[in-house]
Amino acid sequence: MIRPAELIQRKRDGGELSDEELSELILGYTRGEIPDYQLAAFCMAVYFRGLSARETYALTDAMVRSGETIDLHAEIGRPVADKHSTGGVGDKASLVVGPLVAACGVPFGKMSGRGLGHTGGTLDKLESIPGYRVELSRDEFVLQVRDVGLAVIGQTAELVPADKQLYALRDVTATVENVSLIAASIMSKKIAAGANAIVLDVKVGDGAFMKSLDDARALAGAMLELGRRAGRRVVCELTDMDQPLGRAVGNALEIREALAALSGDGPPDLTELAIDASAHLVELCDGMDAGEARARVESVLRDGSALDAYERWIRAQGGDPAEDALPRAPVTKTVTADRDGYVGRLGALAIGTAAMRLGAGRTTKDDTIDHAVGIVCLRKRGDRVKAGEALAEIHARDQAAVDAVADEVREAYELVDTAPPDRGVVLETLS
Ligand code: URA
Repeated sequence: MIRPAELIQRKRDGGELSDEELSELILGYTRGEIPDYQLAAFCMAVYFRGLSARETYALTDAMVRSGETIDLHAEIGRPVADKHSTGGVGDKASLVVGPLVAACGVPFGKMSGRGLGHTGGTLDKLESIPGYRVELSRDEFVLQVRDVGLAVIGQTAELVPADKQLYALRDVTATVENVSLIAASIMSKKIAAGANAIVLDVKVGDGAFMKSLDDARALAGAMLELGRRAGRRVVCELTDMDQPLGRAVGNALEIREALAALSGDGPPDLTELAIDASAHLVELCDGMDAGEARARVESVLRDGSALDAYERWIRAQGGDPAEDALPRAPVTKTVTADRDGYVGRLGALAIGTAAMRLGAGRTTKDDTIDHAVGIVCLRKRGDRVKAGEALAEIHARDQAAVDAVADEVREAYELVDTAPPDRGVVLETLS
């Protein structure tokens, strides 16, 4: 029997814990045998002292074993793909990647989360589609991945219960921002949900968890190592979150933009990121070389089969895939440039926060979301504008809501005299 106080003390003093000790600590906590205050102290010791690669894997493995696991490969008979983002503003890439990958004949199964704070969650976006069911049972999920080739659902309560408890504890004890704890939290859910090939989109920039490339590389490295130890094929892309991805920020607005991208008419950064991530997944699952995989993804986008895959998926989950079925906000207002110039900066955090204050996101877990509202950034970094031209469009419930965020949206844009250097959306790819 472990003595939690002794383990906390050892970690506090910079020592290492064995696999068995970490397993008993996590499973004892999940069973209610170890109190919150001891796990909170343990997380703080980890925050300052870190975990070795071995300890990080032992922690992740214990978290996976705290609940049910799915072996999608065994149940479906072939490798299944998944994609995960560490969270950003306007990040609807999964809604484009799923259909692209499925249209290439690679099954895609994803369990997803809700948004909190300035970042959006895939489930919230999907819930703006009338009728869409996020809560399929485990068996319905597996059958849909097998028969339709694509399913995206909310994480079931049986999957990694340790993460749910630990994350809530870390959230209120200032222990979220630790690479090992974040990597274990994300990868335990990916490993338990059963996909064999996973693309991890690690966002970098002012709207992301990871503000610097070095921090993003450290998180990517930790997650790649966990994937390797768990026998999963993983690619990490470090992508730009200094400005929102695409133009739309807000749930129904983002579904519309994903539909535009699947129709070949999406914003360049979203389209590039989605094609790149999808090509990695097709390459990992089908064993093609990189060039062939990319050509295949581009062809299913061009010939309309990715859009067909989207419609089949949404219908299979009870939703109406038509664009006009999506809700629209009653009031729209443009924000204009007060001078000529180039957009030197478009703050992702500022736009995400303004969208959240319009009602597109939550400040606390229990807030309800207004799916219709949000912001469309008509101009992005590097665009040239003239005084009086529209920079962004606010979609709101009423005029008071517009007035409350209009200055914030204008201030998110920094107009400068010379064009900023060109920068692609995918900054680095690690595997
Ligand atoms: N996302 C997660 O799922 N877990 C973390 O710890 C941080 C981001």
